[in-house]
Amino acid sequence: MTLRTVLDTHIGQATSDGAGVRLTRVFGGPGPERFDPFLMLDEFGSDNPDEYIAGFPAHPHRGFETVTYMLEGRMRHEDHMGNVGLLGAGGVQWMTAARGVIHSEMPEQEEGVMRGFQLWLNLPAKAKLGPAGYRDIPPAEIPRVRLEGGVEVVVIAGQLRASGVEQAGAVQRPDTEPLYLDLHLPAGGAVAPAVADGHRVLLYVYEGSLSLEGHPQPVPAGRLLRLSEQGEVRLGSEAGAKVLLIAGRPLGEPIMQYGPFVMNSREEIEQAMRDFRAGTLTEG
Ligand code: MN
Repeated sequence: MTLRTVLDTHIGQATSDGAGVRLTRVFGGPGPERFDPFLMLDEFGSDNPDEYIAGFPAHPHRGFETVTYMLEGRMRHEDHMGNVGLLGAGGVQWMTAARGVIHSEMPEQEEGVMRGFQLWLNLPAKAKLGPAGYRDIPPAEIPRVRLEGGVEVVVIAGQLRASGVEQAGAVQRPDTEPLYLDLHLPAGGAVAPAVADGHRVLLYVYEGSLSLEGHPQPVPAGRLLRLSEQGEVRLGSEAGAKVLLIAGRPLGEPIMQYGPFVMNSREEIEQAMRDFRAGTLTEG
């Protein structure tokens, strides 16, 4: 049996985005090939409205998908296609920007806790200028599986295979075949979710402390681990942990990013900026 090893560990950077939302950029920015097919993961969490109330007013995206997973709070999405979605605790919004989306993401609350994640998933070159799409997935449509030993798994995307259980997630996507699991390990819990050989595997500990078989020290909250390409992933926790497992098939294509546009070449980025200025970003 081969165990995946830790290639590197990342600590999120405090930053702000949108109209002044405080958040932690877990990964993203220079060297995106390391995380292929993923581009960015932001964690937001605050009980201070000053840190989230400004939200993300109308802004564009092209060339990839955004996946927003809310733990607490409410966010309202509105886009150029006329979609209005209210994202609440435990809900997921899966938006395929592809050729272009212009949308806003605004808090639907003036106090209390706002907490969640936004993951950016790249699209293959052949789909970057395809039709845009949007899906709101309420918590009741996202499978929650309880495994032996009290481990609970929220199966957002892909296929959970662990402890003899198989469960399809709420979302299936071609090409990159993303697996997106929210794993809740009780104290003393253990789980070994199957991951496809050759796929990128990222683990983000957002509460508690995680142990990974073959890795010397426990991993505290706020750390992202990037794992090697082959083998099994065996997780445990002495005192309990909440962990995102994010995996997918790397695209192996050139990545050219300029803010909210992610294409394969500089020319395509310049075209996106011309289309945005001309008001034709979203026209297929
Ligand atoms: Mn956005």
